[in-house]
Amino acid sequence: MTESGTIFDQIISRELAADIVYEDQYVLGFKDINPQAPIHILFIPKLRIATHNDINIDNIDYVSKMHLAINHYVNQIGEAENGYRVVMNCNKNGQQTVFHIHMHLLAGRAMNWPPG
Ligand code: AMP
Repeated sequence: MTESGTIFDQIISRELAADIVYEDQYVLGFKDINPQAPIHILFIPKLRIATHNDINIDNIDYVSKMHLAINHYVNQIGEAENGYRVVMNCNKNGQQTVFHIHMHLLAGRAMNWPPG
């Protein structure tokens, strides 16, 4: 992470191109560059929160908006009833690589459980 943030800040500011599929006042949704399912969208808050550990009472509204954005999107693309997975990775053991929280929406196929 730099002074100007992570690559996700650059996607929010449009300095870096992304395939954006959802946007509102609080949340941006765009296709993951390395998809792990037929549908793999990253939903990010338009406020930099580094990890899940940094969610607090002052920024929790952004997290709620991320969930609402996902619900809106899965209904829009007709995957709500089929089902899907929402994942947030945190720090080393969670294999987080970009330190701006994001929810992975994985859909379009049956998921494995346990995830491994
Ligand atoms: P995580 O490992 O949970 O931090 O997930 C970061 C995700 O960001 C990975 O799935 C990457 O494939 C994805 N990613 C990294 N750079 C980009 C980018 N420029 N555009 C879209 N997705 C990206």
